[in-house]
Amino acid sequence: MKKTSEDELVFLPLGGSNEIGMNFNLYGYGPPHARKWIVVDVGVTFGDQTTPGVEIILPDPSYIEDYADDIIAIVLTHAHEDHIGAMGWLWPRLRAPIYATPFTAFLLREKMRDAGCLKDADITEVPMGGSIDLGPFQVTLVTLTHSIPEPNGLAIRTPLGTILHTGDWKIDPDPILGESTDIEALTALGDEGVLAMVCDSTNVFVDGHAGSEAEVRVAMTKLIQGLKGKVAVACFASNVARMHTVIKAAQMADRRVCLVGRSMHRMAAAAKSVGMFNDIAPFVSDAEAGFFPEDKILYLCTGSQGEARAALFRIADGTHQHVSFGPGDHCIFSSRVIPGNEIPIRNLQNKLSGAGVRLYTERDHPGIHVSGHPCRDELKQMYQWARPQIAVPTHGERRHLLEHLAFAKDLQVPQGVAPRNGDMVRLAPGRAEIIDEVPAGRLYVDGGVVTVENGDALRERRHAAFNGVINVSIALSDKGKILSGPEVRGLGLPSDADYTLDDALDDLAIAAEEGLSRLRGDGLEDDDAVEAAISRAVKKAAHRIWKRRPLVETTVLRV
Ligand SMILES: [Zn+2]
Ligand SMILES: [Zn+2]
Repeated sequence: MKKTSEDELVFLPLGGSNEIGMNFNLYGYGPPHARKWIVVDVGVTFGDQTTPGVEIILPDPSYIEDYADDIIAIVLTHAHEDHIGAMGWLWPRLRAPIYATPFTAFLLREKMRDAGCLKDADITEVPMGGSIDLGPFQVTLVTLTHSIPEPNGLAIRTPLGTILHTGDWKIDPDPILGESTDIEALTALGDEGVLAMVCDSTNVFVDGHAGSEAEVRVAMTKLIQGLKGKVAVACFASNVARMHTVIKAAQMADRRVCLVGRSMHRMAAAAKSVGMFNDIAPFVSDAEAGFFPEDKILYLCTGSQGEARAALFRIADGTHQHVSFGPGDHCIFSSRVIPGNEIPIRNLQNKLSGAGVRLYTERDHPGIHVSGHPCRDELKQMYQWARPQIAVPTHGERRHLLEHLAFAKDLQVPQGVAPRNGDMVRLAPGRAEIIDEVPAGRLYVDGGVVTVENGDALRERRHAAFNGVINVSIALSDKGKILSGPEVRGLGLPSDADYTLDDALDDLAIAAEEGLSRLRGDGLEDDDAVEAAISRAVKKAAHRIWKRRPLVETTVLRV
């Protein structure tokens, strides 16, 4: 494609910059008034204790939705939730053709089917190392290694230069499943000239190397071989190589494997769909597993992050239908603590420990887990291969991105920009710089409804969770005479024997009547005025009683 003098090449993250999660990256090419776009990854992030009831958070696509007709394609780098998890929700708003490798496409189809948009979506499977012609963007997949099958970097060639979008990666010389890093492609790309490298920053604070899956295999085999009693291993189901490692280690210790948890089964099916797992014994169902001698079975479980609905939690809690653990049994955590999950993990481990189960974590047993993201030596190596003119750190919190920027500077990368979500970075022509700030934010999946970030529902729910709820109902005549009530109910409010909740509610009813008595004439005939007067009086009284401000709801009935 020919370039014109007005053409620009821009990078625009709408998710995943200044945070680890919900990756949503855009590349734009053309004159500012007529850019063509490709989207790289459409991921989710997860809620926490500050978002009660909201488990899934999406990047807000509003900005690019306005240009949906100019999106040439959505390219997915790999199948982790923070890279494809939002497709079911957001694809209907973008509607562009989708490109992914077979393993990613398998899991994507499930997601799109669940969301009811599979039949409308145009999904093209691209082989590892394959190329896609997308208007001004020539995209070639570069095989990397990570903690899920088929991780790809993207070499994005444009008339204004080539971008290496790394996606998530590490350098694993022996990843057990799948190919190792395509060093040849990376050095060839470097020789050809890389304008910008948009790169994973997750482990920029960690020296050395992430370590190889092959090392985990050695450690895990040794550990499991020495154990008597039942063994459970918890890991991320998406880490198929880790599943394979555990399965092989079990086999060496003469144990059959039982998968516990839905996503374990889902991932095993995805792995089988691309020809992995052909060399393992059939799994034992959890109903059958109980009939095996204790040291002839191993449970491979979801729930390494302490998730309350996952298999391991139910086992620890004694509420799993088929599997129970107790004294003399072992639980291996082949995973890391994802920041934010410290408390649920501690609770889970305390439950297991309390039941007499011996625990093994990467802290006390180094080698039973390795990270899937590049540490400093690996980052340095990647910079030496690609030799970019511009470093663009992503996939990290602010501190990660800035550290990565400093690190790239030390490695003599001439330019660097660490964008925030919504920052439009012009990569060419001219010096790399932020040229615009576009709306970027989050959407909450709240009980199946997609809502704005921190909307009224969540604000009220948080308020109610901390302060309690008071409900006042009153029946009035047209003129405002009390016919019944006020009836006051309270939820989530403390009391003691000297001053019971009923005492408090009686006092609130008196306050409500007093509030109403302050209204005169027309006010008594106006429902809004009545509700406001009663609510105000009850709030004041509630603050006197509890030193806090419950949510007050007043209902007026006219009879
Ligand atoms: Zn990621
Ligand atoms: Zn990943």
